[in-house]
Amino acid sequence: MIYIHVPFCKSYCIYCDFYSEMGDEGKYARYTQQLCEEIRRRSPEIDDYPRTLYFGGGTPSLLPLTDLTRILLTLEECKHGGPYTEFTMEVNPDDLVQKGLPYVQSLQMLGVNRISIGVQSFDDSLLRWMNRRHDASAAREAFRLCREAGIPNISIDLIFGLSNLSDEVWENTIQEALKLGPEHISCYQLTVEGDNELALRLERGDYEEASDEVCRHQYDILCEKLREAGYNHYEISNFAKPGFEAVHNRGYWQRRPYVGLGPSAHSFSGRGRSWNSPELENYIHTQEALSVEDEKVETLMLGLRTSNGVDAEFLQANSMPGQIDLLVQEGALIRQGRRYRIPEDHFFVSDEIIRQLI
Ligand code: SF4
Repeated sequence: MIYIHVPFCKSYCIYCDFYSEMGDEGKYARYTQQLCEEIRRRSPEIDDYPRTLYFGGGTPSLLPLTDLTRILLTLEECKHGGPYTEFTMEVNPDDLVQKGLPYVQSLQMLGVNRISIGVQSFDDSLLRWMNRRHDASAAREAFRLCREAGIPNISIDLIFGLSNLSDEVWENTIQEALKLGPEHISCYQLTVEGDNELALRLERGDYEEASDEVCRHQYDILCEKLREAGYNHYEISNFAKPGFEAVHNRGYWQRRPYVGLGPSAHSFSGRGRSWNSPELENYIHTQEALSVEDEKVETLMLGLRTSNGVDAEFLQANSMPGQIDLLVQEGALIRQGRRYRIPEDHFFVSDEIIRQLI
């Protein structure tokens, strides 16, 4: 599993806390040069099962095709080339609309078989409020281009948990998403983190965080609508048509090793975690071993956030005595064969349930 972080954006969304920079041709070329050197250097660390490649960001769709091709050729030279079981590229709708069908067709020819579109909302005034650089019609057009190019697996990202998101607008956004019929939908709750623009607005009193009740209500609407539409809610924030569950992301939740390349990318070796510093040039790689206790906590936290849950024996051996029975009685935990899982109607409070267990 390979993750490549592309740390460039053309504008900054008010809620974002990721590392990214404004890019230009020179920066893209220098980034690509460093990344290719890192691929060659860290090639022995790459585990090819499952064979997935994920370009995330930032905004990977800003990267020129010549640079993308160089990266793919370097992976091939190091024996980690395609075809991949899943090759995902995150894109901004605005880039797809500007670059047009030939660009999406080129992505497909380069082996991309899954595109993740950062839609966030189908409401133009909310998109402006978030400082997204696309509107709802660009999102629809980007989706259409992906379909026309024959991309077989399209995912869209949505955001909820805003105090200025009415039920009507939220339901309409979900409806618009369903009309497109994506294979996969990821939906994240807005959180105020770090010192981004949203945090400043909150401090100035220009924004009020949504209460837990409001977030829960919006989440419930989402779960209900997507369930009715036939999506499988296979992880707290992820929904898929049957057979389209993300292979790469599922690997993270199953704690499979992956190598993260590029500034600020994180990696997991199976034994320890490591990360690159966020500088665009000469970024530094730092490693940290995980204790046995850390490994147990990670396994529980990642597993219980999915509909697959965790192994029953493992949970029994690694949770507070009596807590499992208590949670089962409350309906917050379900035993299914040799596994325990959190039912969908308790997904929203899964952090609290996991805290009670460990
Ligand atoms: S949300 Fe994505 S596009 Fe927006 S600033 Fe963050 S990384 Fe860039």
